[in-house]
Amino acid sequence: MTKIFKKTYKFAAYTSGYITLFLAVFFTLFLVFINDFNFWILLLFIVLVYVFSFFVIQYRVEKFIYKRVKKIYDDVSILDASSLSEQPITTNMETLTKQVERFAQHKKLEIEALKIRENYRKEFIGNISHELKTPLFTVQGYILTLLDGGALKDKKVREKYLERANKGVERLIYIVKDLDMITKLEVGDLNLNKEDFDIIELINNVFELLEMKASKKIISLTFDKEYKFPVLVHADKERIQQVVSNLIVNSIKYGQQDGTTEVRVEMLTNNKVLIRITDNGVGIEKTYIPRLFERFFRVDKSGSRQEGGSGLGLSIVKHIVEAHSERIYVESQYGIGSEFSFTLEQAK
Ligand code: ADP
Repeated sequence: MTKIFKKTYKFAAYTSGYITLFLAVFFTLFLVFINDFNFWILLLFIVLVYVFSFFVIQYRVEKFIYKRVKKIYDDVSILDASSLSEQPITTNMETLTKQVERFAQHKKLEIEALKIRENYRKEFIGNISHELKTPLFTVQGYILTLLDGGALKDKKVREKYLERANKGVERLIYIVKDLDMITKLEVGDLNLNKEDFDIIELINNVFELLEMKASKKIISLTFDKEYKFPVLVHADKERIQQVVSNLIVNSIKYGQQDGTTEVRVEMLTNNKVLIRITDNGVGIEKTYIPRLFERFFRVDKSGSRQEGGSGLGLSIVKHIVEAHSERIYVESQYGIGSEFSFTLEQAK
């Protein structure tokens, strides 16, 4: 601070020095010219000129800078004008510099965030249209063939085509539902409706709902042991059902024929319950694991689409678990199997 002070005085001091030197030379020449050179008069002249210039310059410069600084504050209304006061001008300059720096830094961060969001948005829209295109064209293909007339006459072909078109529509609905859910989750629109419920019962329900799907691949859905007593947790039941369901659906989709999906419920010490869903399916290569929870991410693009995934399942799971302030973990070995686990709060 004192250093900056010195600096502004330095400006006035130097400038006054130059003026004084210039006038002193003239004054000396003048005195010599009129043959009346007197050292004391010259010294008095020098002192007077110096002091006078110093104060005038210092005062004028301060006024000038203050006006300019004030104009900057007025123009850039984002700056906090209240911090501008009748303090020494150096303080104002210092505050202004700091504020402008802070402002620029803030803007830089904002722009970076906007750029990331913009890229994200572009990618998201690209992904959505890509996802919707395939089933939409399938449906259109079957409808056009039916409209062509040939297939309409044959009842069997007609039914087959209509069924396939319907499958396409179902897939569209499934994707749109997932998109709707993820948008709600990302906007933070999803209010959690927490209650106490038995997680064992919920898992049993999901087992029942997915029994058909699992039996097609002869995959057994089991607990690691018999849970004789309820395990009460405090969470949004509907959303947790979605989490368990998405994870078990994945274990079936990416499970081997004749495989097993095993669910384990463990009580942890810190009032938490850990739910582990283990399969002996295809497994995931290490390089893909960090990206698994990204929207639309799929390890095997073609294979997974065959399985009917939208690539949103795991990102929905992550959002829900994190909305509960809980954590989700994944461990997987390629060719051996995967384990997805997440924590929940025990009911008190
Ligand atoms: P999808 O709709 O494609 O299943 P998800 O978000 O649910 O999308 O999963 C992302 C990807 O993670 C899947 O495409 C799949 O490659 C991989 N994945 C998820 N769960 C498992 C699992 N249990 N075993 C092996 N791979 C899995």
